[in-house]
Amino acid sequence: MKVKACRHSRLPFHDIHEECGIFGIFNHPEAANLTYLGLYALQHRGQEGAGICSSDGKTLFIEKAIGLVADIFSEKRLKRLPGNCAVGHNRYSTAGGGGLKNVQPLLANYSLGSIAIAHNGNLVNAEQMKEQLETEGAIFQSTSDSEVVLHLIARAKSDDPYERITEALRKVSGAFSLLFLRESELIAVRDPHGVRPLSIGRIDGTYVVASETCAFDLIGAEYIRDIEPGEMVVINHNGLRSIKALQSAKKAFCIFEFIYFARPDSYIFNNTCVNTIRKELGRQLARESLVDADIVIPVPDSGVPAAIGFAEEGKIPFDFGLIRNHYIGRTFIEPKQSIRHFGVKIKLNPVRDLLQDKRIVVVDDSIVRGTTSKKIVKMLREVGGAKEVHMRICSPPTVGPCFYGIDTPTRQELIASSHLAEEIKKYITADSLSYLSLEGLKGMVPDPGDYCTACFDNNYPIMFPKESLEQMELLFT
Ligand code: AMP
Repeated sequence: MKVKACRHSRLPFHDIHEECGIFGIFNHPEAANLTYLGLYALQHRGQEGAGICSSDGKTLFIEKAIGLVADIFSEKRLKRLPGNCAVGHNRYSTAGGGGLKNVQPLLANYSLGSIAIAHNGNLVNAEQMKEQLETEGAIFQSTSDSEVVLHLIARAKSDDPYERITEALRKVSGAFSLLFLRESELIAVRDPHGVRPLSIGRIDGTYVVASETCAFDLIGAEYIRDIEPGEMVVINHNGLRSIKALQSAKKAFCIFEFIYFARPDSYIFNNTCVNTIRKELGRQLARESLVDADIVIPVPDSGVPAAIGFAEEGKIPFDFGLIRNHYIGRTFIEPKQSIRHFGVKIKLNPVRDLLQDKRIVVVDDSIVRGTTSKKIVKMLREVGGAKEVHMRICSPPTVGPCFYGIDTPTRQELIASSHLAEEIKKYITADSLSYLSLEGLKGMVPDPGDYCTACFDNNYPIMFPKESLEQMELLFT
């Protein structure tokens, strides 16, 4: 998480852009190569930059850069990462960047040796901890909240490395799925609420840890289990040891991982298939808001499983009425005046033959600001020739920003925080608009009480420090 001055105020504020993917492996002759593949599978969790830190048992080596995993890691670069253990990190693309200094893993030396950290999530008290540490003389290299954890570890008193990490993590709150690499061990920790996913797998008699199981599939590893909320798992030459490091708290798995963020082929939060949940969300949406239509189309890729579920349940033909260009680079230059609505056209294009004069149901995972839906509806009518466009969203209205690691804008920018569905329907110029109900969403996930649904009901499970709350009120109400 980056700390910056918010444009609405001169108060320092946590920029909310920290969706990330992490991967770690212990005692494998191809540690760096497999970490590279793991990060490649987790690329959807972050595209700004990536890094790998490896260990040969004595020394830690690090390579990181801005860009996509496959562009950063050449064979030559991977050869500069010797050793049998490694951790890797994909960082989410932020509007303002953040630069190389924030690309993880972050590597530091302290009194017990070297340690690298790879973090997925957001700490809600990072700003306060950072201020306190700076007052005490700490010098920060990055503007990332994860560095706070390294400083706290360095300052902790115990000679026991696990107790040090535990002591540090007891001082922070928020969402953290963490990997640490030491000279001869890999340590994984998940916050007491288990906000972000983190799973353990097995390959060639050793262990791997990853944000999502799609990383295991690519390297041929077998899923074993999730790291439990509050659990620390130490993997070294003595095997795998589980430590109950952090006090139990109410589980708060991020429900948005199921809706949008995780890959559909992954199994997260106690081995639940993301694709299956998304399809069920689509089915439930159809039960709640079916409409007479000729065709159901998804907004690819995130709307695909839900649209299939919707079409199956509603007994309406399904097809790919919008084609997505998968090769859009981050540096694409948009022409200024000449081509209107270029933003969405560069990504999506309608198949006129399927849509001409049809009544269309378009299924997407969420509406954030409303810009995408508005452009899609317009494009389906003007280019696709649609007769009617019915927008169906397989999540409830997004009314609250996420402080735990999903990239959402401020409350004012979330269209549903200040507008009713009927008003949003008019804004996006759809013939009808329906969202999935919160009850409907909860009814489709196992153990519904175990989820954070703050973005849909403003029910924030992890409290901010008092000072931050005041900031939040200033900034968001
Ligand atoms: P908007 O145009 O702001 O309403 O954005 C809605 C689109 O953004 C939908 O098509 C979603 O699939 C996508 N989306 C939702 N959440 C996120 C996120 N955290 N990061 C990037 N895209 C998102």
